[in-house]
Amino acid sequence: MYNFNFHTASSLDDAVAKLGAAEDGTVMAGGQTLIPVLKQRLAKPSDVVDLSGIGELKGITANSDGVTIGAMTRHADVAKSSDVPAALRAVAEGIGDAQVRNRGTLGGSVANNDPAADYPAALLGLGATITTNQRDIAADDFFTGMFDTALTDGEIIKSVTFPNAIKAAYAKFPNPASRYALVGVFVAQTASGVRVAVTGASGCVHRATEMEKALSANWSAAALDGISIPSSGLNSDIHGSAEYRAHLVTVMAKRAVAAAG
Ligand SMILES: Cc1cc2nc3c(=O)[nH]c(=O)nc-3n(C[C@H](O)[C@H](O)[C@H](O)COP(=O)(O)OP(=O)(O)OC[C@H]3O[C@@H](n4cnc5c(N)ncnc54)[C@H](O)[C@@H]3O)c2cc1C
Repeated sequence: MYNFNFHTASSLDDAVAKLGAAEDGTVMAGGQTLIPVLKQRLAKPSDVVDLSGIGELKGITANSDGVTIGAMTRHADVAKSSDVPAALRAVAEGIGDAQVRNRGTLGGSVANNDPAADYPAALLGLGATITTNQRDIAADDFFTGMFDTALTDGEIIKSVTFPNAIKAAYAKFPNPASRYALVGVFVAQTASGVRVAVTGASGCVHRATEMEKALSANWSAAALDGISIPSSGLNSDIHGSAEYRAHLVTVMAKRAVAAAG
């Protein structure tokens, strides 16, 4: 680990100011990814600003349009909240293990945009909106590449708003060790149409447009029978080949549609 200056922020404004004053600063949520990254010397920030004391970044608010979840809300709190729709609760409940869910945050997961993370599929699948200290960003525009997002320097996620869906569900084939998604598929019937988001299969969460068309015409697992996902460009590693992941996309999509009903 390289040396850095450590700050605790008392409010969002305080965090923005401390980040702005730093030469090359970064924020920390639960530190679950950031700390290992620092320990492995993969990043060398001049300053780390801890967001964990900022009350305004925590909590869950539901209304008739959907639910807004603060960036610093931990996975365990989302998983047990009766204000959160079942499909989203299931996503949070399936992340890692109890320790991971008790430290990991929605904002940290979304900002990190790990290609195998679960929340990005839920955000893209439901057409969520990410609110930062500067603007609102549609999920469709947010996840720009592997570990890359539309966030700019000094931008902090405040919350994510998930619109209500008519039907929605998530199915994932978890890595047996980490529980990250070897492949995960979130399907939803929303007011603006059917959305299918795939995580784990490639370098970045993405929508499966051919599946969306098929499910728009016929919302059933059988509607996906004729669709085979090309393996070119998909991840291939010790956990599974690109061909295996391609196969899993269709299997997980069918399971998700069946679960959504
Ligand atoms: C053993 C293990 C198993 C895991 N399994 C899974 C799994 O099955 N599925 C899954 O989806 N995830 C999994 N995770 C990831 C975990 O759930 C966390 O979401 C992830 O590590 C981010 O952690 P964090 O919230 O503590 O953020 P941090 O590590 O503190 O931050 C991560 C990154 O996000 C940035 N950041 C944090 N908050 C904000 C904010 N509000 N605004 C802007 N930038 C911000 C930080 O600067 C940093 O770059 C696993 C992690 C571990 C360690």
